[in-house]
Amino acid sequence: MTKELVDIIRADQSHWVGDGFRVRSLFNYDGDTDAISPFLLFDYGDPNYFAPNEGSPRGVGQHPHRGFETVTIVYDGEVSHRDSHGGGGTIGPGDVQWMTAGRGIIHEEYHSKAYSGSGGPFRMLQLWVNLPAKHKMDPPNYQAILNADIPVIEFEGGRARIIAGEFQNTAGAASTYTPINIWDVRASKGSDISLDLPEGHNSMITVLSGQVEIDGQRIEPAEIARLSVAGTGVTVSARSDAMLLVLTGEPIDEPVVGHGPFVMNSVDEIQQAFEDFRSGRFGMITA
Ligand code: MN
Repeated sequence: MTKELVDIIRADQSHWVGDGFRVRSLFNYDGDTDAISPFLLFDYGDPNYFAPNEGSPRGVGQHPHRGFETVTIVYDGEVSHRDSHGGGGTIGPGDVQWMTAGRGIIHEEYHSKAYSGSGGPFRMLQLWVNLPAKHKMDPPNYQAILNADIPVIEFEGGRARIIAGEFQNTAGAASTYTPINIWDVRASKGSDISLDLPEGHNSMITVLSGQVEIDGQRIEPAEIARLSVAGTGVTVSARSDAMLLVLTGEPIDEPVVGHGPFVMNSVDEIQQAFEDFRSGRFGMITA
């Protein structure tokens, strides 16, 4: 049995994160978290263009996170990151930054100095991935995953970059706490591509560009086709050359209580996060 199309997720409104990232929140933890678990949030960045802004890179200044991971995927432009755990670096097209906030981190996210100097096309997206309760207070970690480190699998009608998980027995680049697949898939116009998606995983196919059909329904850019948990695999018919982001994950069957940059399992733990942040227990950015 193949997976069925359950619904199409879209968001008409965009908003700015700081002054550097204009995004649409395709989903977040205020909605039905069972339907998206273990993912918590998807900030989809529309393709954008920034003029040169040398000397004052755009972005978002120091802010905390606790209880989950942020995954930033860059398609165009460059993003620089610094955090209170000593993590940091600049990622460019094809690169991925996988930050485990764990028990608490403070970070800042800016356009890189070089990109700010040149300006140009800019495109990125950010996912928040939940941590199981027993790992929410693990030490923070930072995985800089470069384009060259991400395995590429060519197949009939397209290709896939395996950011996380597994695709045709090839393991993805990221290490994850729970079973997750994140694939950057390109499909050629006119092809019907078959993707082998796991039984029991929440499964979503986001169209980044082009048009595809799933179960006879047209899916447009900035839309997510949410598929049934039951079943394995899906066929995607590309009506034009298309860029897709495929997300699947084994649901984490635990309560989700989120407030702003903290996502825990109870209101008490959220209050504790605010208290720990206010009292300086998240450390500070020193590098
Ligand atoms: Mn952040």
